[in-house]
Amino acid sequence: MLLNILSLHPLKKLVVQLFESINELQPILFSLKSKGFSIGFVPTMGALHKGHLSLAEQAARENTVVVMSIFVNPTQFNNAEDLEKYPRTLASDVKLLQVSAVSEQLLVYAPNASDIYDQQIASEKFDFNGLENEMEGKFRAGHFDGVGTVVKKLFKLIMPQKAYFGEKDFQQLQIVKTMVQKEQLPVEVIGCPILREPSGLAMSSRNQRLTEVQRNEAALIYKVLKKAKTVFSEKSITAIEDDVKNTFENNPHLTLEYFQIADENTLKPAFNKETNTKYRAFIAVFAGDIRLIDNIALN
Ligand code: AMP
Repeated sequence: MLLNILSLHPLKKLVVQLFESINELQPILFSLKSKGFSIGFVPTMGALHKGHLSLAEQAARENTVVVMSIFVNPTQFNNAEDLEKYPRTLASDVKLLQVSAVSEQLLVYAPNASDIYDQQIASEKFDFNGLENEMEGKFRAGHFDGVGTVVKKLFKLIMPQKAYFGEKDFQQLQIVKTMVQKEQLPVEVIGCPILREPSGLAMSSRNQRLTEVQRNEAALIYKVLKKAKTVFSEKSITAIEDDVKNTFENNPHLTLEYFQIADENTLKPAFNKETNTKYRAFIAVFAGDIRLIDNIALN
């Protein structure tokens, strides 16, 4: 199905086109590329929010055409219930893209699993230089093989010059950069800053599922990250980590899965502070069955 949505913006004519099949999208991409247009790609799982839009806006500033994929990728979910409950809101996503006017030409690719996976919905196995064994990799078995699989397939289908990923999923960003290097894919991977709610809570599609109480309580996640940054130069890493654990032990609404200070490049846990090393604090917290992640640069 190809749906053409023309939206009249006060200043420019904007086009959002929705494609459910790569066979419909690819000829248009080839034609745009043959005219010398550059393609900026923003992969998402939909339930769009301002964080996603900020990626598309950056892609629009740096390319002629923006392609955004909206696909809830089954192979990156380690938990069937999480996959089932993941919000799917394609019609309102397309409307949001239309009214937000992020790009003069925006192609939305929202495929079915069969368009991406042919016969078998399964992951390729990757070696991401050990990045996949830390943090999210420890707690979400197979997650990064699923991410690598879908991103590689999408890169090969879309063939963008640049692709935009949020620092919100910092480990994913490093893993995609590593994959592109190892597999020599002709894409420049660009990291974009984390967008937050006024409370500091990192924007996330999963936030839609939070109750009002959980949403208010979840502001604690960014508070502890900011505090870790403030005290990083004076306190030891173990003292900071212990403080964070104690803070969550006293909270009845949030359960800490991990808080870890790590080398930003290797993602290995840090025990001492070395000069010339960039550190980040990473956190995963459950509010009921809703899993939230966030991170912050410390130095
Ligand atoms: P998702 O739909 O959650 O898979 O996210 C799609 C892309 O949007 C990923 O590159 C995420 O890192 C990025 N993203 C998600 N939330 C945010 C946010 N709050 N700020 C910036 N980027 C984000």
